[in-house]
Amino acid sequence: MHRLFISDLHLSDQAPSIETGLNDLITRERGVESLVILGDFFEAWVGDDDDDPLALRVKNLLRRLSLAGCEILVCRGNRDFMLGEQFAADIGGTLLDDVTAMEVAGAPALVLHGDTLCTDDADYQQFRSLVHSRDWQAEMMEKPLAERRELASQLRALSIDAASNKPEDIMDVNDQAVTDLMSDHGISRMIHGHTHRPARHKVEAGERIVLGDWTAQQGWLLRENGRALTLEQFALS
Ligand code: MN
Repeated sequence: MHRLFISDLHLSDQAPSIETGLNDLITRERGVESLVILGDFFEAWVGDDDDDPLALRVKNLLRRLSLAGCEILVCRGNRDFMLGEQFAADIGGTLLDDVTAMEVAGAPALVLHGDTLCTDDADYQQFRSLVHSRDWQAEMMEKPLAERRELASQLRALSIDAASNKPEDIMDVNDQAVTDLMSDHGISRMIHGHTHRPARHKVEAGERIVLGDWTAQQGWLLRENGRALTLEQFALS
């Protein structure tokens, strides 16, 4: 299996070089069989009916990739938590649960965005359970797109949503939460993004791999190629 894991691109009109970088990555990585997007792919997502040009361009790009035979798996992040089944259908991909167990490089691994591991941030976890609830999301989807866009920009301005994407503003994972999740599943490898602290950590239960966020200058990916797993950083032109 040749598979790429990416996360935290925070795609938006404010960072066109990241969208170009994604296009370039997909163009040069021919032969990739599976692309796993572990959340915060978009800086904001107001619903799968969004007709914003950026949303349409990125959906077309992913649609072409899946039509070319590449599996696409997508997990929600704390910014694009409104991504839904319609988005997955539009791109020919699959929406993942908050935590997914899958075979990676010949061994089971847990894949997730990572915000649920930051249990020290009680305010955020409370906010998260609200906005992930079916009722809240259904109420949101009844509002017109323009109103949802306005609400999204207000939410981003609130400190509870960690208004900045800088790593020092994002709490790191709680070690006990990591250990608990891995031992609950009996799985010794975990892959996540969110914290913008790319690294491969040896932990009590095995290994924790953290993807990096993309900036105007650089992107990050984790490459699974057969039994090999490599965390790679690359320049965006
Ligand atoms: Mn995040």
